[in-house]
Amino acid sequence: MLAKDRARTLRRWADLMIDHVDDLALLLTSEQGKPLAESRAEIVYAASFLEWFGEEAKRVYGDTIPSPWPDKRIVVTKEPVGVTGGITPWNFPMAIPAWKTLPALLAGNAVILKPASDTPLLALKLANLLHEAGLPGGVLNVITGPGVVLGDALVSHKGVNMISLTGSTEVGRHVAEICGRDLRRCTLELGGKNAVIVLEDADLDLAVESVSWGAFGTTGQRCTATSRVIVHKAIQHAFTDRLVAAAEKLQIGNGLDEKVDMGPLVNRGRVHAVHQYTQVGQQEGAKLLTGGTPLNNGDYSQGAFYKPTVFTDVSPDMRIAREEVFGPFVSILPVASYEEAVQVANATEYGLSTSIFTNDLRTTFRAMREIESGLIYFNAPTTGAEIHMPFGGVKASGNGHRELGTHAVEEFSETKSIFVSYPPKHK
Ligand code: NAD
Repeated sequence: MLAKDRARTLRRWADLMIDHVDDLALLLTSEQGKPLAESRAEIVYAASFLEWFGEEAKRVYGDTIPSPWPDKRIVVTKEPVGVTGGITPWNFPMAIPAWKTLPALLAGNAVILKPASDTPLLALKLANLLHEAGLPGGVLNVITGPGVVLGDALVSHKGVNMISLTGSTEVGRHVAEICGRDLRRCTLELGGKNAVIVLEDADLDLAVESVSWGAFGTTGQRCTATSRVIVHKAIQHAFTDRLVAAAEKLQIGNGLDEKVDMGPLVNRGRVHAVHQYTQVGQQEGAKLLTGGTPLNNGDYSQGAFYKPTVFTDVSPDMRIAREEVFGPFVSILPVASYEEAVQVANATEYGLSTSIFTNDLRTTFRAMREIESGLIYFNAPTTGAEIHMPFGGVKASGNGHRELGTHAVEEFSETKSIFVSYPPKHK
């Protein structure tokens, strides 16, 4: 398709998403569990990607580079990679399939999308709406089924030129190994153990509100979820008391009930996994301040609910300070200085998102340089990617690629350098 036609199709797709926001949100909550308000926000968020990339589809530009020689011209073009495979997790079943598919399509590729087996319905809806918007048949294909069977088949298929996975670091390593054997391009967005640093001069109310949302929003099931709070000892108790009060105030229940703040985990296996970390924390000698139990009584017996959980007196060597829990679970690590806070923040294998609460300009600029993280926020939660910002992590949180924004289009394009010589005719 011509770039202008691709752009028009993507923009029509955005309009269709907004037209169907209520139906899609209902489906998302029914399938994944998050509260309706969060589901609606996710659909609107995904539609905003379609709109933004719809504009960007007109601007897949190349370069002309001056040659050092006369009568020579160098042109650099962007070409599609070919057939790309997208593999996505269950925590953002609409937004992540959208952000894998869009830059691939606008760069001119065909896509085979494999959503997580817990949440296939939104990806299927996404594809239906795109076909309604005018995408030719066969350009976007959705296959559903378990990762170990279908994911592996997709990743090792010789006809697939590139794999883009969002998922756990363990699966990322496996996928990268298979791609490595065939030298296939592979972009990975993986796990996190994201820290919020709360320094002495922080606005405590803002920090507590941000940590509560970062840790317990989406039931803590976000790659950028706040999983550690590194807090200065001078304000440790004031901060901790307020955070515990905020956690205990949250209404937990069926995401279809508009009064609910925090929905269930995606399945009962995840409840078991989170509860194991509570037991690990207790064995390691950390202090449980609130939560730490599944909710099983009454209506809760129908679902997969876990109380928002806060541990304190956690030290950096404990497993609950190093491993991704992926649930409503936060570890507080007290420190005595900014320098110690940075050392503790960097002491995990992950490096996705870090946030710092401070009003000190010098600390702000030092932290920008010293924190090992793909995303850094100041005075804001660890969550909240925006479409135009490059998104991705360092260390075990990814393999150096970035999604969203114009960076994403680069990931899904090949660069071709063309050298044209037009010397005068030989006599
Ligand atoms: P997961 O790794 O279990 O699964 C992710 C996807 O990979 C699913 O579609 C799954 O079916 C597929 N898969 C599983 N085994 C596979 C295999 N052997 N070969 C190919 N594909 C396979 O992750 P999850 O439980 O769905 O999601 C949670 C994880 O995703 C967390 O670690 C979270 O941090 C991470 N995540 C990262 C980001 C990010 O942008 N960095 C965003 C969301 C989630």
